[in-house]
Amino acid sequence: TFKAVVIEKGEGGQSVALRSFDEADLMDGDVTVRVTHSTLNYKDGLALTGKAPVVRRFPMIPGIDFSGVVEASSHPGWAPGDAVILTGWGLGETHLGAYAEKARVKGDWLVALPASLTPEQAMAVGTAGFTAMLALLALERHGLRPEAGPALVTGAAGGVGSVATALLAAAGWHVVAATGRAAEEAEYLRGLGAAEIIGREELSTPGKPLGRERWAAAVDAVGSTTLANALAMTRYGGAVAACGLAGGMDLPGSVAPFILRGVALLGIDSVMAPQALRREAWARLARDLDLDRLAAMTTTIPLSGVIERGPAILAGRTRGRVVVTVD
Ligand code: NAP
Repeated sequence: TFKAVVIEKGEGGQSVALRSFDEADLMDGDVTVRVTHSTLNYKDGLALTGKAPVVRRFPMIPGIDFSGVVEASSHPGWAPGDAVILTGWGLGETHLGAYAEKARVKGDWLVALPASLTPEQAMAVGTAGFTAMLALLALERHGLRPEAGPALVTGAAGGVGSVATALLAAAGWHVVAATGRAAEEAEYLRGLGAAEIIGREELSTPGKPLGRERWAAAVDAVGSTTLANALAMTRYGGAVAACGLAGGMDLPGSVAPFILRGVALLGIDSVMAPQALRREAWARLARDLDLDRLAAMTTTIPLSGVIERGPAILAGRTRGRVVVTVD
């Protein structure tokens, strides 16, 4: 047996507890990993609290990402001792996840830990940071460069937002960070490289179909009215990478930015991202992410701490990234 956070569903709803878990009850997979670190993402908050139906089987071990060491493998790509990372692929949703000392997974889901990152740093990046890099890659693939104008980041003090701010700033962008916590977090965000801080409320009240052209690019972790306004204020030919729904899943906007300004809406999904894109994103993260800034945005908690932190991340009270030390 090994230690795991386990979600069970009974008649009175779901319950979550740190308990021992039988290795024989792990799901099929060709690689067994000794998990060393995981993280707390927004989706983990949804799973831990049951606020949205992200967990698709019970019992479930939540935790959507990990770093660790291969313990046993019948997959040709992996051998015992290999340092690996995994994000997404249904981990913690349909497949038993990362908040456990052991995980059994498909070798095809794993990525080698980049040589320049420790397992802890890789999880300081985690799903949120990986997603921020996917957003930057999508904006670049659209042809956007810092010369085009400023880049907006929404939900800037959160996980995706913090990494996006640091990555865009490192790539030379003039970053406009939108946050609901400007009073407390302005200094933190400037430390990550933000050039301007704006209040969340500038974007969260319904606006006109087209607004003043304020940025050429945006990374949006919030969705809903914020995303609609981000689009309405994007410069001619710019693009918005939509990666989150912290403010809501709806999109109450108009087609005006698309048909009158040629603005593009780029969808970002980290869960099913193909392996070639994952390797590209992790290589770029290893090369470009400032490790001091990564440390500045990271808090570390023990495995036993994740249960009580679930509601806090949904309430937007988490700053930056939370690493979970498993062993
Ligand atoms: P997080 O750390 O909680 O960050 C979310 C941030 O959004 C908060 O810190 C807060 O930033 C802002 N926010 C929260 N509630 C809000 C509200 N009601 N209205 C406006 N802003 C609000 O979560 P995360 O792990 O970074 O994830 C962020 C979002 O991205 C989540 O929706 C998550 O599901 C999504 N996501 C998607 C993918 C993908 O594959 N597409 C991958 C990872 C995450 P401020 O305090 O600075 O305003």
